[in-house]
Amino acid sequence: MIPILMYHQIGEPAPKGTPYRGLTVHPKRFTQQMRWLKRFGYTGLSMQDLMPYLRGEKHGKVIGITFDDGYQNVLHNALPVLQALGFTSTNYIVSNHLSGDNFWDHHKGIPRSALMSEAELHQWLAAGQEIGSHTMDHVHLPEISAAQAQQQIQQSKIDLENRFQVEVTAFCYPYGHYNATIQQWTQNSGYTNATTTARGLALNTDNPFELPRVTVSRSTHLLRFLQKCLTQLEHKKRFAS
Ligand SMILES: [Zn+2]
Repeated sequence: MIPILMYHQIGEPAPKGTPYRGLTVHPKRFTQQMRWLKRFGYTGLSMQDLMPYLRGEKHGKVIGITFDDGYQNVLHNALPVLQALGFTSTNYIVSNHLSGDNFWDHHKGIPRSALMSEAELHQWLAAGQEIGSHTMDHVHLPEISAAQAQQQIQQSKIDLENRFQVEVTAFCYPYGHYNATIQQWTQNSGYTNATTTARGLALNTDNPFELPRVTVSRSTHLLRFLQKCLTQLEHKKRFAS
């Protein structure tokens, strides 16, 4: 069983009462979470680095680290922490909106937050981190035409690969919305894995195009975080005495 952590933004929280405020984790809390994982002997890995463990080809204490949407505050607040600990991670990029913002959230009253620019994504990659695709326009894949959905999945991969000269093998379904056909298109487009918003630890037997994740929100306290991450066995062993 391998936890794949799902983060969105790492920054100061928006004022109380702001919708979806929980999606922003405070930098201090993020740092504390990463340091504790390291203390427990875990290494945080990008999806690319994690896949051999998920396939059962490699064994060790590893945890997947993912960020949705490509926020600039992840570059500023999370990257230095990841680098200091020797962790890698995956950030899922909305390929048509480099330097843009989370426009898809505005109607819900979520404050605007900047997405990484092309230069910032180069920094992210140069620091050994991975980029995955989160479609071209953060669309609801099951709700658009088949042609549009296929283009959103395929073209985002091609565009990111051409622009950054890296292979893009990780995909994340926007809003966690997908179905069997969409999963198949994702596989056919040349990705090797896709994450969802289903909660849970990933198993070797899971379909790699339907991987569950562990949500970490602003209010996830340390002990709960560790409970969510470490398996019950590990938890008992460490806290028994
Ligand atoms: Zn998203």
